[in-house]
Amino acid sequence: MSEMKILFCASEAAPFAKTGGLADVAGSLPESLHKLGCDVRIFMPLYRSVRDNLPSLHPVARNMIIPIGTHDYHIHLWESRTLSGTPVYFLEKDEFYDRSYLYGSPLRGDYEDNAERFIALSMGARQLCDSIGWYPSIFHLHDWQTALAAAYFQMNWRYDPKFGRSGTVFTIHNIAYQGVFPAGFFSLTNLPPSTWSLQGIEFWGQCNFMKAGLVYSDFITTVSPRYAREITTKDFGFGLEGILEERKDSLRGILNGIDVNTWDPQTDSFLPHRFSKDDLSGKKVCKEALCSRMGLENSCELPLIGMIGRLATQKGFDLLEKILPDLMKLPVNLVILGTGDTAIEEKIRDMEKLYANHLKLITRYDEEMAHLIEAGADIFLMPSRYEPCGLNQMYSLRYGTIPVVHATGGLDNSVLDVMVYPDTGTGFKFYDYEPDAFLDSVKSALDLFKEVRKWVEIQRRAMIEDFSWDKSASQYIEVYEKVLASKKGFGTRPGPKPGPIGGLV
Ligand code: ADP
Repeated sequence: MSEMKILFCASEAAPFAKTGGLADVAGSLPESLHKLGCDVRIFMPLYRSVRDNLPSLHPVARNMIIPIGTHDYHIHLWESRTLSGTPVYFLEKDEFYDRSYLYGSPLRGDYEDNAERFIALSMGARQLCDSIGWYPSIFHLHDWQTALAAAYFQMNWRYDPKFGRSGTVFTIHNIAYQGVFPAGFFSLTNLPPSTWSLQGIEFWGQCNFMKAGLVYSDFITTVSPRYAREITTKDFGFGLEGILEERKDSLRGILNGIDVNTWDPQTDSFLPHRFSKDDLSGKKVCKEALCSRMGLENSCELPLIGMIGRLATQKGFDLLEKILPDLMKLPVNLVILGTGDTAIEEKIRDMEKLYANHLKLITRYDEEMAHLIEAGADIFLMPSRYEPCGLNQMYSLRYGTIPVVHATGGLDNSVLDVMVYPDTGTGFKFYDYEPDAFLDSVKSALDLFKEVRKWVEIQRRAMIEDFSWDKSASQYIEVYEKVLASKKGFGTRPGPKPGPIGGLV
């Protein structure tokens, strides 16, 4: 295979900036693709937190102009590298990204100029290529924040011979977040009027950025095979199911991997004691440490259940709320780590007061605590209503912390149900999104937990599952190859002639 050049365009990438799973993917997948021989580079905004924490930033270009609507904005480009040497390019535009949060503040919600901020990022991908004289074979775009680049590419960039054989891949990390703005915002994109249509980015009279990725990219991927099927249905497609159904031949689900170096119980520096499938004694030390941190030391012999995730309805907190009174009657402790919706937080806080000796909620973003919970808990809950992929269930499996999950999206693809496959299962699943089904599944896990030998067998099976990125990375390469194979013969593809699009995009 000749060296493939891939530009990852994403609004967040670990370790530089992270609010969720997208950052994990955009941070880890490039490293695995690099190992497989690709020249991969990452392009993202220069947020305040990135600038403050990254001492070695090198200037790439200054004062380039990006036209948003009728305004010309000056941007600057910077370069740094990941620890393994992958180039990362940052887009600077002071008032756009030099802020305390990535997308909005907890008090005031989404930033009002998010459309402009991410139009700039999408357009900036092209400016970057011209600045560094490096032209990718594939623009790999992620979520609505960079989806417009697929439209710019289709309408304009591809007519430049430098991009003649290039293509676009768009990855959906969560279709619930689409970047929908009032119709008036369309003029900010400087896309040709033809793109304002049912077959373009118009969506019930509004401007839908994610739709650009779905309509104009050469290939669409999402983060698990089951979610790829689910999003073509009304229940999970959030209004975009029709387009996805139309494009189902160019849609593939590829299960996310996890960063197996950061999440390794044998080397995890956050843990008071490390452990492996062959010697689980360190896991007990982690449990004791977690109990003592949470004030549960007097009941540490009870099964300890953990839960980590955004406090959002997606994550199944409504089910949890309904089963909590019954769950708390059982002899268990439950530790929850999460930030997000204050209404959800308040409800759990009320329950915490009622069951103060057995229920603990921590509402902060705390990487160390996340590792300690994954290591110290016996059982992990992920009752998500829907879950494109989910990472925590895979971390749990790797740490011998047996997951109880709703059989949806990536949860269904990554956990094998012990109740169905007693000799090979790695966790517990419930199939109907109902409180009773969830509670029954937790009870099955608690019953089996008492059978120590069987439990340890499940733990060992879970801990040897391979969730490294290597498997998924080769599937992405298959997708890239497919796209590039379709590009033979530049200029023969049907499509509109390049529009003026603000002159520069
Ligand atoms: P999503 O992207 O929907 O939020 P994922 O399970 O795909 O959910 O990824 C969430 C990531 O964020 C995981 O790496 C998880 O450990 C981490 N995380 C979520 N909330 C917290 C928190 N309060 N503290 C530490 N890590 C968190």
